[in-house]
Amino acid sequence: MTAIALFSGGLDSTLAMKLIIDQGIEVLAVNINTGFGSTKERLEHMQKICNQVGAELRIIDIESEYLQDVLFDPKYGYGKNFNPCIDCHAKMFAVAKRIMEAEGASFLISGEVVGQRPMSQNKDAMQTVLYESNCDGLLLRPMSALCLAPTIAEEKGWVDREKLEGITGRNRERQLELLQEMGLSDFESPGGGCLLTDENFSKKIFDFIQYDKFEVKDILVLKTGRHLRLPDGAKLVVGRNKEENEHLQNIKNDKYYHTKTIGIPGPHALLSKNASQADRVLSTKIILTYTKAKPEEIYFVSYDGFQLNASAFDTRDEANKFNIL
Ligand code: SF4
Repeated sequence: MTAIALFSGGLDSTLAMKLIIDQGIEVLAVNINTGFGSTKERLEHMQKICNQVGAELRIIDIESEYLQDVLFDPKYGYGKNFNPCIDCHAKMFAVAKRIMEAEGASFLISGEVVGQRPMSQNKDAMQTVLYESNCDGLLLRPMSALCLAPTIAEEKGWVDREKLEGITGRNRERQLELLQEMGLSDFESPGGGCLLTDENFSKKIFDFIQYDKFEVKDILVLKTGRHLRLPDGAKLVVGRNKEENEHLQNIKNDKYYHTKTIGIPGPHALLSKNASQADRVLSTKIILTYTKAKPEEIYFVSYDGFQLNASAFDTRDEANKFNIL
């Protein structure tokens, strides 16, 4: 018998999987990539955890489906930032159910704990998600099972309900106890949770959709650098350090020019290809302002195939006026 687990790499979803594996059931850990979560470190961490508990890890990419169905028109609205948690969970369960059917697995599990998150993990929201994803009865939540109605897996005796937990609320005491009892280690999860819950990232998306259609290829652009909106509507992204410059350099997105300062070291930047001439000149000034250029001298910046010249602003404050954040 196999169960499909929705796995985030966090403590609760790991413990939930282990509770089921310990009952002799195979678990396929599915991590759903919306485009706004996993970093490379987190993926490595998830693999380590799955090796420890004895589950196979599978990453399922749903970026495009997520933008189309969930992010911009969530039926149940947003949390504090751009996070449509209820719709997002429903989408994840629907995807997990698809995998369950394709794999011939018998039921689904998740690490959700009743009352742990105000928007998405209260009893009503948890029920809504089941209804919306058509997973009622199929989804077992081992961490809170004892305070929820029995699911098919419990009713049919595939899983011994008595060996499941009845955890509620935000207190993590019982989870830490379980962690010790199960002998799991190296549990420090690397940072970098869902970017949609991040206030600054949410502001960048909000700004973006006022000017442009948001596509999968734009996600990477939003993740790095200083973001500026110029007066005629162009977007300028400027690397703030070596790592960001390298990251920007590697982005392939036909909406943007890659820029390079000439004769003086400078940051890597991206500028909207549809920028007006005035925005292009302003972009040149701004990019130069983040170099050691002398404001009284003229320098060149190249934009994939053409060059513009300008002088830097006297102070960075003048450039920072256009920052989105
Ligand atoms: S925090 Fe992010 S990944 Fe998690 S449910 Fe909310 S929107 Fe989805």
